[in-house]
Formats: sequence, structure tokens, C-alpha cells
Amino acid sequence: NFGDASEEQVSGAAVLARALKAQDVQYMFGIVGIPVTEIAIAAQQLGIRYVGMRNEQAACYAASAVGYLTGRPGVCLVVSGPGLVHALGGMANANMNCWPLIVIGGSSERCQETMGAFQEFPQVEACRLYSKFSVRPSSIEAIPSIIEKAVRSSIYGRPGACYIDIPADFVNLQVNVNSIKYVECCMPPPISMAETSAVQMAASVIRNAKRPLLIIGKGAAYAHAEEGIRKLVEQCKLPFLPTPMGKGVIPDNHPNCVAAARSSRALQFADVIVLFGARLNWILHFGLPPRYQPDVKFIQIDICAEELGNNVRPAVTLLGDINAVTKQLLEQFDKTPWQYPPESKWWNTLREKMKSNEAASKELASKKSLPMNYYTVFYHVQEQLPRDCMVVSEGANTMDIGRTVLQNYLPRHRLDAGTFGTMGVGLGFAIAAAIVAKDRNPGQRVICVEGDSAFGFSGMEVETICRYNLPIVLLVVNNNGIYQGIDTDSWKEMLKFGDATALAPPMCLLPNAHYEQVMAAFGGSGYFVQTREELQESLRKSLADTTKPSLINIMIEPQSMRKAQDFHWLTRSNM
Ligand code: ADP
Ligand code: MG
Repeated sequence: NFGDASEEQVSGAAVLARALKAQDVQYMFGIVGIPVTEIAIAAQQLGIRYVGMRNEQAACYAASAVGYLTGRPGVCLVVSGPGLVHALGGMANANMNCWPLIVIGGSSERCQETMGAFQEFPQVEACRLYSKFSVRPSSIEAIPSIIEKAVRSSIYGRPGACYIDIPADFVNLQVNVNSIKYVECCMPPPISMAETSAVQMAASVIRNAKRPLLIIGKGAAYAHAEEGIRKLVEQCKLPFLPTPMGKGVIPDNHPNCVAAARSSRALQFADVIVLFGARLNWILHFGLPPRYQPDVKFIQIDICAEELGNNVRPAVTLLGDINAVTKQLLEQFDKTPWQYPPESKWWNTLREKMKSNEAASKELASKKSLPMNYYTVFYHVQEQLPRDCMVVSEGANTMDIGRTVLQNYLPRHRLDAGTFGTMGVGLGFAIAAAIVAKDRNPGQRVICVEGDSAFGFSGMEVETICRYNLPIVLLVVNNNGIYQGIDTDSWKEMLKFGDATALAPPMCLLPNAHYEQVMAAFGGSGYFVQTREELQESLRKSLADTTKPSLINIMIEPQSMRKAQDFHWLTRSNM
């Protein structure tokens, strides 16, 4: 043997890492252990960033946020059995949100399969419900083409999650380098446009609308359709409202944004609604009465044909890429210019309602009583937030009320519980956002606004945040419970009568919990605040300090609720 190159060996782990690199995968989140540790090491050696997390679920949330923010899937790397099972929550969340994601799970050795191997589990089958594509490569030689297919599937058509199973015996197996053929990076997703006649019909329905409304969803954000949609809004002078993660595609403070009149006016009375990448699911009350007019005409724009016609019979369906279809619509209005009259009765109705809703929130925000309420907290936070910051948010009232007060001015700058209403996503999302910001937008701050209950689901990721020294500002809006809690005195009083398991309302969490000490334990800054002045001061310090993360634990009234709603059903919905 004269060191012939054809004798050179390479491990399964190295092949997998190179195949990922060839598909331009840049970020990997996970928890190592048998049998995937070597995969993480091999990936890191090739320049793929590896972020070690504390729970696979949070790792998977983080990887999926990378997909939404960058348009290329992040990888979540997990061990066999329980590791993979923990990741299913993240896969489900990504798939429901239509976000690209690659999950790679180690699995037990093939020769021990069905014998009760260590952490044996039917992983490929388990992932099928949560993904677009779930497969185990038949050999190490097959890994590069399977990785290419997974990455391509995750971003083509409606984006989603893909699973690849890597048996333990693949990881360290050595094969001849020449037996591996790497596959070129898949092409960017092809762009499809809507049928011309449908575009013409849509333009005509919009022109004839008496009370038009555009709804901008996170599909529009993902599609980078901000420029075209904004042009359409401004050229045709149309009112719009964003869905939770559609916020920022057009700035929240744009004069045509009618978010403050959302439910009881805009949705309720519109006669023509154009949906830009937003499904008619629970978030939009299924498009049905009593939340909408029975004869409202929907124009749906979506990349997924199966979505069109769900829950309603649309007036027009525009199947295609939102960015491309918006340009097609603009062409129609360039050919025959038209604008919706700015002094119409509809605009006046919307403006009036916005004014009164905004006044009601301001009134609540200005309340000087202690403990603070949600509105007071969010108004003071909003005053200091940098314009380009990323806002991550979860919790029930924390997220819902926070959304109405915290402004987004840029697209893809809000991450929250999403379509699946998942609690526990916040810290993983914030970590992903901070890592991506470090590479692409240095100096950008990530603000993570958590309810105290929501924070608990992935709270130990604070250690991850401190280990990588990500200058995230975590706000825990603490009402001692889920939806609501009770104060310390009542809690103590209650315990005189018996055990907490018998007496504590199930919504309660420990009153006055010092979550800020979790941050302090790992070297970040922790603040416990009870007044507006303390909140202002600690937030000012946290935003000024770009060298380390902070957590501000904000005590609010344990029974603090939303402002009164026009209709009883509004208080029950998440919107
Ligand atoms: P929201 O939660 O903001 O209402 P949804 O997740 O319900 O948004 O809807 C997003 C929609 O956007 C999905 O139906 C998805 O198929 C669609 N979508 C994603 N990317 C594109 C794209 N590039 N072009 C068109 N539609 C897209
Ligand atoms: Mg709470």
C-alpha cells in the first residue's frame, strides 16, 4: 500500500456532516449523547455552528426558528428514543407553522433492532405525523442524496419539517471516501405564479369592494413579500391587519394598519378580505360568522393548493408564491389605476374604533396602582424598545396583550406561540434569533417577553443563553400563575387549612417566585421589579449592557386581566 487515495476511509458521521454542509446548512442545535456526539463534532469541524441546549424540545424550537428567519432549515440533532421523542414537540410546532426544519435522530444499532436495544423506538414511523418526509438512509453512501432531498423538501412547496434517522452503527462505520458522491446544493424553491384570469378576477373583486381588508400572515413574512404588499396597500389605499407573526411585514404604525380595530370592526364588517399567507384556522376564527359577515368574499393567496377553500368557499383563489402573486396584482392596478376612497364610511368606522380602543389601553396603562397591570408594563417596555429589535413572546395574557402594545416595524421580527399555540417556545426562539443576529445583524437586540408559566417550560435554557453569552433581555411578566395566581398572603393563609395539593387552585404557581435568580446563577443580570420606576431603570440597564444577558422579573397584579371586550366571546379566544 503506497497511501493510495482510494484506501482513505471516512466515518458515517463525517459523511453526514459534509452532506449537510453541501446543502448550506449553517446551524445545528441539539443535545449530544450516544450515538450522535461524533456527528456534532464533525459538523463543527466543517464550520457548522453547533449550539448545545438543555432539552431537545427547546433545541428543536430553536432550529425551526432559524428556518423561518433565514429561509434555510436549521438542524436539530438528538439521541435515540427519548431524545427523539422530546424533539417531536418541536417538529410538530414547526410543521404546524409551515417552517423548514431538519431533525436528525440517532437510533439503535440495526443488528439489535426488535431485540429491545438501548433506547430502541420506531423513530421513522413516529416522525411521520410531524413531518413532510421521514426516512432512514439505506446505507452511508445514500446519506448525501437523502440529505439533499430532506433539505429540498423542507423548503419547496409549503415549508415543513423533515426527519432523518441515523442508526448508531452508521456513525463510526468507516467507508472508502471514493464510494461517497456528495450532491450539489439544491436549487432555491421554484417560484410559481397564479393563473392570469384569477388575478384579473381578484383585482375586479377588490375594485368593487365596499369594505375591503387585507390580512397579512406569517406566510407573507416568510415569502419576503414586504415590498410588494406595502406598495399595494399604499397605491390602493387599503386597510390591512397583520396576524400575530405577520406583524412588521408592514410597520405596525403604518397609517393603514387597522390592528387596533381588529375583531369588532375590521373582521366583523369587511365585505372583501384578501389573505396573504394566513390560514382560516382558529387564529382567524375559521372565516365564519359570527366573526365575519356571512357573505364576505375571501381572496386567498397561498402556495399550498390544499389550503384553498378550507372552511369557506373563496371568491377567488390565487395559487402561487405570495411575492410573485402580489406583483401580478400590482400589475393589474398599474394598468388601470384605482384606489379605495380614503374618506369612505368604512375608513371612518375603522378609525373611530381604533381611537376608542387605543384610548382604553392608554387609560389602563396610566393606572398608578400597584402591583402593576399588563398594560402599564407593556407601555413602559415599548417606550424603550429599539426599533429593530426582535420580539419573542409567549404566555396567555402576556402574549395577547403584549402583541397589542409592543410594536414591530420590520418583517420576521416577531416569534411567538404560533399556529399550534405552543408554550415553551420562547427561550429556544430567542437563542436562535440571537445567534442569527450575531452573524447577520450584529448589535440587534432580542427581547423575550414571557409569562411566568411560559418561562417555566424551558427555563433551564437560561444556562444555554449564559454559556454562549447571548445578550438577550428576558422579561418574565409574573402574575404567580397560569392565567392568574394568588398573592403571597393568601397563599400562606390557604396553607393553614391543609396541603397545597388539596387546596391550591390548579392555575397557581409559587407566589413571588424569584425567577431573576435563575439568570444570576449563571452570571447574567437579574432584576426583581415591582414598580414602574424599577422597571424603567432595569430595562434601561439591560438594554445598555450588550455584554451579557438579563432577566427582569416583573411582578404584576395576580388577578390582572385584559381590558373589557365588546363581545363576551372575545375574552375566551386567543385573539
Ligand atoms: P398566520 O399564522 O400568520 O395566520 P399561517 O401559518 O396560518 O399564518 O399561514 C401561512 C400560510 O402561508 C400557509 O398556508 C403557507 O402554505 C403559506 N405560505 C408559506 N410560504 C408561502 C409562499 N412563499 N407563498 C405563498 N404562500 C406561502
Ligand atoms: Mg402567569
